Amino acid sequence: MSVSGKGWKEIPLAGVCWKPSGEYLTGDWKTYTPVRDLEKCTRCLLCAVFCPDGAIHWNDEKGDIEFDYNYCKGCGICANECPTKAIKIKMVIE
Ligand code: SF4
Ligand code: SF4
Repeated sequence: MSVSGKGWKEIPLAGVCWKPSGEYLTGDWKTYTPVRDLEKCTRCLLCAVFCPDGAIHWNDEKGDIEFDYNYCKGCGICANECPTKAIKIKMVIE
């Protein structure tokens, strides 16, 4: 039982963010940034599904995914969920 008195089965499902807010460039916050190994990436798009900021998109022209670093906060979830370990999280060096 949670503090609010509701069990986890009673809490509504959370939504999925497919489109980042255009109002705030949350990428400015980051200390870490994802770097993808193009050889290991199978373009499965799982990273795009798991990204909480909607910062990974499919680019039809390139036939590949791309990161929108204006919104990526460097949380590392994409690297954690990538089945082929194609994403490494590196420290941003100014
Ligand atoms: S989850 Fe990994 S393999 Fe799949 S598209 Fe993203 S980087 Fe590529
Ligand atoms: S590091 Fe976090 S915010 Fe950035 S692309 Fe990966 S999952 Fe999205």
